[in-house]
Amino acid sequence: EKTMTDPKKKILLITTGGTIASVSTKDGLVPAGSEILAAEVERLRDYYDIEVCDLMRLDSSNIQPEEWVKIARCVFERRQGLDGIVITHGTDTMAYTSSILSFMLKNIDLPVVLTGAQLPMRNPISDAFDNLRTAFLMAASGRAGVFVAFDRRVMLGCRAVKVRAESFDAFESVNRRYAARVTTAGLVVDESVLPQRQGEPMLCD
Ligand code: ASP
Repeated sequence: EKTMTDPKKKILLITTGGTIASVSTKDGLVPAGSEILAAEVERLRDYYDIEVCDLMRLDSSNIQPEEWVKIARCVFERRQGLDGIVITHGTDTMAYTSSILSFMLKNIDLPVVLTGAQLPMRNPISDAFDNLRTAFLMAASGRAGVFVAFDRRVMLGCRAVKVRAESFDAFESVNRRYAARVTTAGLVVDESVLPQRQGEPMLCD
């Protein structure tokens, strides 16, 4: 149980665009930055010590290998002194980014949790709140590795696949149990699923 004397975990939020941080315009959804997530981030500051880095503002269909390198370097270079990192990302290619990051960030020594949403944060029925909260819980959990948090479940980054376009359970974990779930008891982690570190963290870019 959290007490008033627990120090807040230090979490870096990196934004890359995607529906979660987009604004609705007459020309459709336009990806923006952390200003779209600001109200929710403010609420989360009651529980976490949060730094924000707006890295890019892209629909994830425009995320290419150069962006993978940029994200991996940002994580690797900024990780010291942090407890965890949350990356917001469009859902269309999030599983590709989370897979490649699992290999680029070899033996990563903190949780790196990607999340996104089926609806923009500013939509009243958005899943963005829940997904961001699950991602922060996992990022503060002390479990190192690259993960995807979605629909109150956490999966290994290299096992996640987007399988649904219209429902909130957009991602599935292929041939591996979930790394964690959010229940009324909080974050329930399946330790047997977590990646085993085999040496010092290394950036393979
Ligand atoms: N087209 C968006 C993207 O992948 C879809 C989303 O975020 O759900 O950036």
